[in-house]
Amino acid sequence: MTNGFITENIAAIQQRIRVAETEYNRQQGAVTLMAVSKTRSANEVAVAAEAGIVDIGENYLQEALDKQAQLTDRGLCWHFIGPIQSNKTRAIAEHFDWVHSLDRIKIARRLNEQRPSDLPPLNICLQVNISQEDSKSGFAPQAVLAAAEDIAQLPRLALRGLMAIPQASDDEAQQRRSFAALRELLEEIKHALPAQPLDTLSMGMSGDMAAAIAEGATIVRIGSDIFGPRQ
Ligand SMILES: *Cc1c(COP(=O)(O)O)cnc(C)c1O
Repeated sequence: MTNGFITENIAAIQQRIRVAETEYNRQQGAVTLMAVSKTRSANEVAVAAEAGIVDIGENYLQEALDKQAQLTDRGLCWHFIGPIQSNKTRAIAEHFDWVHSLDRIKIARRLNEQRPSDLPPLNICLQVNISQEDSKSGFAPQAVLAAAEDIAQLPRLALRGLMAIPQASDDEAQQRRSFAALRELLEEIKHALPAQPLDTLSMGMSGDMAAAIAEGATIVRIGSDIFGPRQ
């Protein structure tokens, strides 16, 4: 992809976000655009950064570490959003600012133990299998509150909110129902854990961004609308 293409896409998406914020009575600037750069080069990420993107989402550890090594001193905020194997937790704890795909308590304990003491607590979103699909990872909705209570005890993690990838649907009403369910789940957890900094709903991708903003997304995770379709 040419650099101009990425830059123009980012400007257009930022504009769509601002329009959706207005349309759905969200505060201007309430929604952060994360650029999801799996399979993209460090150069493409650098172009996104120059277009004003701060938050970068990566799914694969080694690929992310390679890009991070080429993109130091740019003030980027790195989000791990992919499946987490237990033998990868140390590198994730050392090299990321956020994890959005936490789906097991055992992984949370390891990240808590391995987070270096000179870094701030690792920001965490619990992944929720909001459409209850067999093929998707994430806590079952009815298991999220107990998991949040456990994770709130871990001092090197900051429990920030919930993440979901709902079942794909072209029907905006259906998209909104899934995102509303995640929002309601976060409200429940906030009520139970008032001392936690629970301010994040990580939801909305290229195909369902507006519906997510309508239902309270605070971070949208956008890949193909920024960088083009993945091969
Ligand atoms: C790939 C990916 C995205 C971005 O998806 P697009 O449809 O390309 O916008 C968002 N979130 C997660 C967890 C992903 O793996």
